[in-house]
Amino acid sequence: MSSPATPPRPLILRHADVLVTMDAARREIPDGAVVTEGPAVAWVGATAELPAVYAEALARGQAEAIDLRGHVAMPGLVNTHHHMYQSLTRAVPEAQDAELFGWLTNLYLLWARITPEMIRVSTRTAMAELMLSGCTTTSDHLYLFPNGSRLDDSIEAADAMGMRFHAARGSMSVGRSLGGLPPDEVVETEEAILRDSERLIDRWHDPSRHAMRRIVLAPCSPFSVSRDLMRLSAELARERGVSLHTHLAENDNDIAYSREKFGMTPAEYAEDLGWVGRDVWHAHCVKLDEAGIALFGRTGTGVAHCPCSNMRLASGIAPIGAMRRAGVPVGLGVDGSASNDGAHLLGEARQAMLLQRVGFGPAAMTAREALEIATLGGARVLGRDDIGALAPGMSADIVAFDLRGVGHAGAGHDPVAALVFCQPGAAALSVIDGRVRIRDGRFADLELAPLLARHRELARTLYEQARHPHVN
Ligand SMILES: [Zn+2]
Repeated sequence: MSSPATPPRPLILRHADVLVTMDAARREIPDGAVVTEGPAVAWVGATAELPAVYAEALARGQAEAIDLRGHVAMPGLVNTHHHMYQSLTRAVPEAQDAELFGWLTNLYLLWARITPEMIRVSTRTAMAELMLSGCTTTSDHLYLFPNGSRLDDSIEAADAMGMRFHAARGSMSVGRSLGGLPPDEVVETEEAILRDSERLIDRWHDPSRHAMRRIVLAPCSPFSVSRDLMRLSAELARERGVSLHTHLAENDNDIAYSREKFGMTPAEYAEDLGWVGRDVWHAHCVKLDEAGIALFGRTGTGVAHCPCSNMRLASGIAPIGAMRRAGVPVGLGVDGSASNDGAHLLGEARQAMLLQRVGFGPAAMTAREALEIATLGGARVLGRDDIGALAPGMSADIVAFDLRGVGHAGAGHDPVAALVFCQPGAAALSVIDGRVRIRDGRFADLELAPLLARHRELARTLYEQARHPHVN
């Protein structure tokens, strides 16, 4: 999907059964409408109150209208943690039943063979999957660059898909020979990591409102880079005004490693390195302790909650309620496809709600709270005040779900809660940056089948090569 230079005509989405705004008053507008002009929302309200100027523009053919009867419309969902290249290594038999560290050791062997084309195709595929699940803004944490791969490969894939993208420049510098977890062939020198980080910020980072591309500095985790690189990354990020992201406090082994190696809890280590603040978010934090939660709340440090991944790897239940009560910004992440083999962001909101209830009782999270975390929560975690809600001046990122199918039959009593309680639906409509990307459940200008066919081929090649390295 290319982005034409001319801005699209005003888009009038009207007659949504309910329009969920996530605005300051959390209004849910029956028979709602929203109008976009260029990259921003221009008007939100009841369809009956649409200003006459839009009807006139429609009559002159200077606007486009889409009827959303039978649909719930809402702000596009925000995904705050992913490793899109991993969509090539889903359900790999050798990594199906391992916990985090064992799982990583098996998968690094495959990932060392990733090529630039694999990054491009897997990123586009992962984005297609996310978009069909209602996601309009995503981050991706790419932390290995074998065989000439670059972060630019995934950024160009986002351009092709038309998705709002926070590209996290991951890195690993402590390989096996230095006592780290990853094999030496997938780590880089710290000098090369920092140089490339600067190049990426210069080339791609857009700090402006409604930006489609932002760069994030994101050493993979405290067990795959040095203390120096964590510190220098934080310094560079602050100098250049970009955000910071990494994995933290994911499971009990992670805590034990941090205590043994650094003599601190993960939260203490993060604070020691300058890795707290509104410009920082950490993935998982399943084992963030009380002091860590208070620290994150005080400093506005964000958390990417990845419930499916946490369940698949048996990491535990993140204390999301306690975090939110302490003022910690919390968003959702589907995490890499290799630790959550189904990257459905609305499904992730459902799992977040269900998992909190398993841990903390039936009132631990409501459906509306899950939707708020998936929209406003994610926006706050990514450091954005222009996405996550529908109000004039916000970015024109809107999705709609058709609730007339069998999966929502009988749920008309509360269509908004039904989005979370019932089976996760596919987005019937997706508008990103004011442009229609999905219409009637299909991509407006992307052929999905050839993309998936190539993705299947590359996934097979990667797996076969790793199993029979002597062949190639
Ligand atoms: Zn991850």
